[in-house]
Amino acid sequence: MKTLVTGGAGFIGSNFVEYLLEERDESVVTLDALTYAGSKANLSSVLEHPKHEFVEGNICDELLVRELVADVDRIVNFAAESHVDRSIEGAEPFVETNVLGTQTLLEATLDADIESFLQVSTDEVYGEIEEGEFTEWDQLKPQNPYAATKASADLLASSYYTTHGLPVLITRTSNNYGPRQHEEKLIPKFITRATAGQSLPVYGDGSNVREWIYVADNCRALATVLEEGVPGEIYNIGSGDEFTNLEITKRIIDMVGASNDQIKFVEDRAGHDQRYALDCSKVESLGWSPEWSFEEGLKRTVEYYLS
Ligand code: NAD
Repeated sequence: MKTLVTGGAGFIGSNFVEYLLEERDESVVTLDALTYAGSKANLSSVLEHPKHEFVEGNICDELLVRELVADVDRIVNFAAESHVDRSIEGAEPFVETNVLGTQTLLEATLDADIESFLQVSTDEVYGEIEEGEFTEWDQLKPQNPYAATKASADLLASSYYTTHGLPVLITRTSNNYGPRQHEEKLIPKFITRATAGQSLPVYGDGSNVREWIYVADNCRALATVLEEGVPGEIYNIGSGDEFTNLEITKRIIDMVGASNDQIKFVEDRAGHDQRYALDCSKVESLGWSPEWSFEEGLKRTVEYYLS
């Protein structure tokens, strides 16, 4: 089994590439444009792996993509612009990679003989939910440009299943955390700032709720969907571990021995969704469940950033 992993030099992608090579003994071709968010260093443990090939390139490069998809059994598309704050400053690169890039991949795949095309998406496509949990049947109501481009990609991917019979699977995962996440994201940013004695800028009153999943649990879930999922279907992936941003901040402070005085409430993010939560019974029915407690996952993450 040979998998093309796009965006494999980023946070989740690099953990997934490592997982396929080391735990599944599979072959991987990683395609990554090495934007500010990607780095070959994220793949240092597997760059020389005999079953791994790294290709520096863009998912919008049609010729390159056609060449690569012709020689693999599966495609997992992680490649994306992924930071909400950046999408608020300017959405163009998000449309280019998240929408046009996905369409280029889908189109190229039509002429290839592949087993599955997994589009890696996010809980943010549903928008916010006050109570209860989103199921895969819920309406898409993205509320920031990042989420809007991810929702667009989901719809495109679904349409290639319905229109062309492409074996598309879609996963929508909650917030991931763990080693190698870019330091612009909340958990790594606060671990490094807290240990350096710097202020911890919490949006609004810190009451926004997110569901946090350790990246290794997400990688296993993605592999489960690839192996057991039904083409054309969507699978939510989450842990059930919900925390407010303020709770996360205080847990980090406790774990690294910093001070609550470092917390600084700042103007809220525009269009800031109040709460995300996912019903994951569908992916659980495939035999997957989370293994990492938040406590253990955060401990491992803190150790990674401190070393
Ligand atoms: P990331 O920003 O860490 O990594 C993205 C990677 O994609 C980088 O290596 C970057 O160089 C690469 N890339 C960007 N544009 C590219 C292009 N045009 N061509 C080829 N490569 C390109 O992101 P992440 O946090 O690892 O997220 C990976 C995927 O998972 C994204 O699709 C994201 O929407 C989705 N997701 C992330 C989370 C999360 O909490 N991090 C949650 C749910 C879904």
